[in-house]
Amino acid sequence: MENSRLEKLIPDSGSQFRAGYVALLGKPNVGKSTLLNALMKQKLAIVTPKPQTTRHTTIAILNGKNFQAILMDTPGIFQPKKGVRLQQSMVRKAISALNDADVLVLMAEPDISSEKDLPIREIRRTDKPIVLTINKIDTVSKKVLLPAIDAARRMYDFQEIVPISALRADGLDELLDSIMRLLPFGSPFYPPDVLTDKPERFFVGEIIRETIFVCYGQEIPYTTTVTVEDFSERDKGKDFIRAVIHTERSSQKAILIGRKGEALKRIGEKARKEIEEFLGRPVYLELWVKTRKDWRKKASDLKEFGY
Ligand code: GDP
Ligand code: MG
Repeated sequence: MENSRLEKLIPDSGSQFRAGYVALLGKPNVGKSTLLNALMKQKLAIVTPKPQTTRHTTIAILNGKNFQAILMDTPGIFQPKKGVRLQQSMVRKAISALNDADVLVLMAEPDISSEKDLPIREIRRTDKPIVLTINKIDTVSKKVLLPAIDAARRMYDFQEIVPISALRADGLDELLDSIMRLLPFGSPFYPPDVLTDKPERFFVGEIIRETIFVCYGQEIPYTTTVTVEDFSERDKGKDFIRAVIHTERSSQKAILIGRKGEALKRIGEKARKEIEEFLGRPVYLELWVKTRKDWRKKASDLKEFGY
């Protein structure tokens, strides 16, 4: 769409309008997806207590009175395990978001004491403005927080340091102000009614994946991926969704299906409720489990699954 048309869509876009890309970076589990959902006041990215749940970069478009911030939730930056191509692809995506961004929001937890607590090495290579946000302040007292802020300030010349609690939506206005001030002047990239670049189908797959993360222990979630094979909207009756859970071994497939299919039924019911809440309409969800041996290590499989 041409910019001139966009300007008509957004009444406030005068010369003072700011627009740009903002990458949310940080180690797995610091709360990047929680922040994105809190800023959007809507659940777009999947959040679970386990690290490395986010595999794709999801964008969410946040429209303010005089700005448009395109937020990129990234897989965390971490040391990929040798031979696990999925992990390499995740870190590559996070680094590429860093390169695409106008502003970086680096997220950390309040226990910053040394350089190993921040991905300093990766950010030193960029000259982009960086806002350090210290998340989960609901879990610590000021006595812990203030030395952490001092330590961070000594490590790197951050544009701003903003303490927040993404979970309790605390400090978000301050964070948004800081981000906004650093965005370049310019017209919006997207019309105001666009929330994300991904189709509903993508989120349906992510919700099923999240459900598996919530329902299973350590091993299973990391070996699975989900594809949505059919998503037919129907005028009358419920939308029909058929999805396949791919896993690496037949033993894992057996666990996911369970005795007489009970485990799969439980996942399906839980996921369906979440999908209905997300879409705002009832759906019929059909789930299958298939084995794809060692898919996380094979380039062709990863490509097929969209990694
Ligand atoms: P990501 O891997 O960086 O995307 O982290 P997630 O957003 O998935 O969050 C990881 C875990 O931290 C989840 O269990 C969240 O509920 C939790 N979490 C996120 N933000 C906060 C916060 O502000 N306070 C507390 N106490 N927990 C949080
Ligand atoms: Mg995440």
